[in-house]
Amino acid sequence: MEKMIIVGSGCAGLTAAIYAARANLDPLVLEGKEPGGQLSTTTLVENFPGFPEGIDGPQLILNMKAQAQRFGARFAYSFANGLEPKEGHLRVKVDDDWVDTRTLIVASGASARWLGLPHEKKLVGHGLTSCATCDGAFYRNVPVCVVGGGDSACEEATFLTKFASKVYLIHRRDTLRASKIMAARALSNPKVEPVWNSVPTEYLTDESGEVRAVRLKNTATGAESELEVKCVFVAIGHTPNTAPFRGVLDMDAEGYLTQQRGSRTNIEGVFAAGDVADHVYKQAVTAAGEGCAAAMDAEKYLAERG
Ligand code: NAP
Repeated sequence: MEKMIIVGSGCAGLTAAIYAARANLDPLVLEGKEPGGQLSTTTLVENFPGFPEGIDGPQLILNMKAQAQRFGARFAYSFANGLEPKEGHLRVKVDDDWVDTRTLIVASGASARWLGLPHEKKLVGHGLTSCATCDGAFYRNVPVCVVGGGDSACEEATFLTKFASKVYLIHRRDTLRASKIMAARALSNPKVEPVWNSVPTEYLTDESGEVRAVRLKNTATGAESELEVKCVFVAIGHTPNTAPFRGVLDMDAEGYLTQQRGSRTNIEGVFAAGDVADHVYKQAVTAAGEGCAAAMDAEKYLAERG
């Protein structure tokens, strides 16, 4: 019987692991399919407090993991495939085996949706990103584009006008999905230029492997064109990684876990932290804070039960 299993090894999961390990809960962290979470695929993180010069996302994650290991957290390159509440405890399907545990912290995050174009994975961090807050400041006085037509795309486009010389908003239709206020804010900004009825079909790179342009296809006419940009910000939505818990844990229509009283979920002994339950802030520092809260809630839950 484990005392605590933590699903996910991003900011939320690792912070929960640090707190739980220091509370002698001997947590087992299942690293999941994307070890380190979204930070492990970004470059310089300039907004995590305590690093005035910034810190590389992967390094920040390595530091957090080392900190958790120092206090005894255990890690497994495993994936949670299912959850069954039992009398007084939980059963978690770890890869192919069921494991008993007293508590579970779900910090499995959310994965950015990508366009699925060739070389996409390789180009992340080289002129391709899904996070304007993280990477926008690297693209000062150059043209960039945002792909998507929802609130995220409009928010990112508006944010990017602080840095870029021009922000093309590429949308596959001719009306935005975004709320009126977000759409109006983006479209009224003189630096934002909508590119309607268009989808990227190829990322074009320069000799050093950085994005220099995108090839576009007009969804109405089929015509192809090239758009010169130094960075592509993909904002076509996130998918919370909650599929293994569907039907057991309460979630909203988009699949985000819903919490009750702090980090508690609808199932006793199961707590949620980070992007898996957050479609508002989605920041490394808020995920870390929620990981801390979940570990403390779980510790209290165990203490109350002796
Ligand atoms: P979203 O509302 O699902 O919008 C995704 C956008 O990407 C849509 O415009 C969609 O086009 C487009 N898209 C999806 N797949 C695509 C593909 N393969 N190729 C090209 N375009 C594609 O996602 P979101 O903007 O991330 O917003 C998610 C939720 O968070 C929403 O409820 C939103 O209101 C909320 N949110 C709120 C705020 C805020 O209030 N501050 C900020 C961000 C997000 P179609 O329109 O054609 O489907």
